[in-house]
Amino acid sequence: MGCGQNYIGGRWVEAASGRTFSVRNPATGELLGMVADAGREDVTRAVEAAHGAFPGWAALAAPERAKLLLRAAALMLERKEELARILTSEQGKPLKEAQGEIEYAAGFVTWYAEEGKRVYGETIPASVAHKRLLVIKQPVGVVAAITPWNFPAAMVTRKIAPALAAGCPVVLKPAEQTPLTAFALFQIFEEAGFPAGVVNLITTRDPSEVGRELVENPLVRMIAFTGSTDVGKLLMRGAAAQVKRISLELGGNAPFIVFEDADLDKAVAAAVSSKFRNMGQTCICANRIYVQESILESFATKFVERVRQLKMGNGLEEGVHVGPLIDEGGFKKVCAHVEDAVAKGARILTGGAPRTDGPFAHGHFFEPTVLADVRKGMQILEEETFGPVAPLVPFRDEAEVIRAANDTRYGLAAYFYSQNVSRCIRVAEQLEYGVIGANDAMPAVPQAPFGGLKESGFGREGGREGIEEFLEVKLISLGL
Ligand code: NAP
Repeated sequence: MGCGQNYIGGRWVEAASGRTFSVRNPATGELLGMVADAGREDVTRAVEAAHGAFPGWAALAAPERAKLLLRAAALMLERKEELARILTSEQGKPLKEAQGEIEYAAGFVTWYAEEGKRVYGETIPASVAHKRLLVIKQPVGVVAAITPWNFPAAMVTRKIAPALAAGCPVVLKPAEQTPLTAFALFQIFEEAGFPAGVVNLITTRDPSEVGRELVENPLVRMIAFTGSTDVGKLLMRGAAAQVKRISLELGGNAPFIVFEDADLDKAVAAAVSSKFRNMGQTCICANRIYVQESILESFATKFVERVRQLKMGNGLEEGVHVGPLIDEGGFKKVCAHVEDAVAKGARILTGGAPRTDGPFAHGHFFEPTVLADVRKGMQILEEETFGPVAPLVPFRDEAEVIRAANDTRYGLAAYFYSQNVSRCIRVAEQLEYGVIGANDAMPAVPQAPFGGLKESGFGREGGREGIEEFLEVKLISLGL
C-alpha cells in the first residue's frame, strides 16, 4: 500500500483513470504526497464491495465487531505521534492539538465498540392475549461518509465507528485537503483485521461526481455528512429522490456570552481557547463574543493581553498556538470579514492583518485578531468566519443577548459564562442550539450527543444517540 491509492474491497488500488492529485502542507506549501483522484467508476466499485460485505458484517456478533474496533483504537493510540504529525502536516493545526484530536478520534472507536453491545430492542404488551410484540434494531446497510478537513481524524471516526459497531459497512470520502490522515487510519483498519469490503476509502478532487454516485447509487442506504450547509442542502435534495437516510452536521455561528456575574479569568481563558483553537476553523468555535457592558473594558483588556501571547507559525514547531488557514478561499473570507467590519466602524484592538513575511511567506497566515465596536449588520456576525478573529459585541441585559444569540439561521453550539445557577438553567433552555457550553468551552466528547438545530443540520453524532442513526427499527408482531 502507499499514498496514491484507494482502499476498495480490502485492496489498495489506483483510480480507474490512473489520475492523482497533490496534497500540500498549508504552512509551507511543501508537497506531501500524491493521492488517487477517484471518479464515479471507483465509487461504484467501492459501494458494491461494501454491499457484498454487508450480510457477513451485520451477522457478526457485536462483541466480535467490538474486538476489531478496540484493536483499531489501540493502534491509533500506539501511533498517536505519527498520526498527529501527518495531521498537522496536511491540516496546519498545532501538533499538541493534533495529538489531542487523535485521542479524541480513538475515543469514538472505543466508545462505539462498547455501545454496539447495547443495541437493545424492546417487548411491548400486545392488545390481545395471543400476540407478542417484539421490536428489534438492525443496521441500515451501506453508509457513505463524507468528511471535512478541519478534523481529519475525529470526523472520520465519529461516523465510521458507530456505523461499524451497528453492523454497517462504510465508504468514506475525506476532504481533498486532508486525505493523508484518512490513509493512515485505513492502514490501521486493515491491520486491525476488518474483513474485505467493510471499510472502503475513496479520495477525489471532484467531490460533485463522487457525491452524485454516493447519493444516486441505490445500494447506499445512508449518507453521513459533515461540512458546509450549502453542500448539506445539496445532498439532502439528492437523498430525497430515494428517500435515503441522511445525517447532517453543518456550519455554525456560535455565540459566546459573558455575563457580569461570570468568573472573568475563566471566561477569558475559555474564550481564547474556543476562538483560536484550530485557527478558529471549527464548526463550534466562538464566532461572536457578547460581553455585558459593565465588564466589557476589563474583559477586553485581559482578552487582548492573552491573544497577544499567542504564537503563530508552522504547527509542527514547538510552542506554536496558531497555524495557517487551510487555503486561499478560507484566507480570503477572513480578510473580507475583517475589512467589512472595519469599514462599518469596528476597531482593531490587536492583529487585523495577514502576515507574508519570513516564515509566513508560503502559507495563508492571518494574525490573531480582536475587534471592538462590532455591531449587527457586519458580515462577521452573520456568517461563520472560520478564522482567528474575535469580534467583541457589548450587550445590556439577558433578554437582549438571548435575542441576539438566537438571531441566526444556525444552531450548532453556544456558550455562556455566569456563576448564577438560575441564570445558567434559564439561558441554557432559551438558547436555540444543539450543544450548550455553560461555563465550559469544550463540550464535545464521544459519550454525549453532538449536533445542530436549524440550518446546522440534524441527526446526532456521539453518545448513545449516535449509533441510532445507523439502525432501523423493526416491529415483529408474533401471533401465538
Ligand atoms: P464542504 O466544502 O461542505 O466540504 C465537506 C466535504 O464535502 C468535503 O469532503 C468535500 O469534498 C465534500 N463535498 C464538497 N462538495 C460536494 C458535493 N457536491 N457532493 C458531495 N460532497 C461534496 O465543507 P468544508 O469547507 O470542507 O468544511 C467546513 C464546514 O464544515 C464548515 O461550515 C463547518 O462549520 C462544517 N463543520 C461542521 C461540523 C459539525 O459537526 N457540525 C464539524 C466540522 C465542520 P472536497 O474536500 O473535495 O471539497
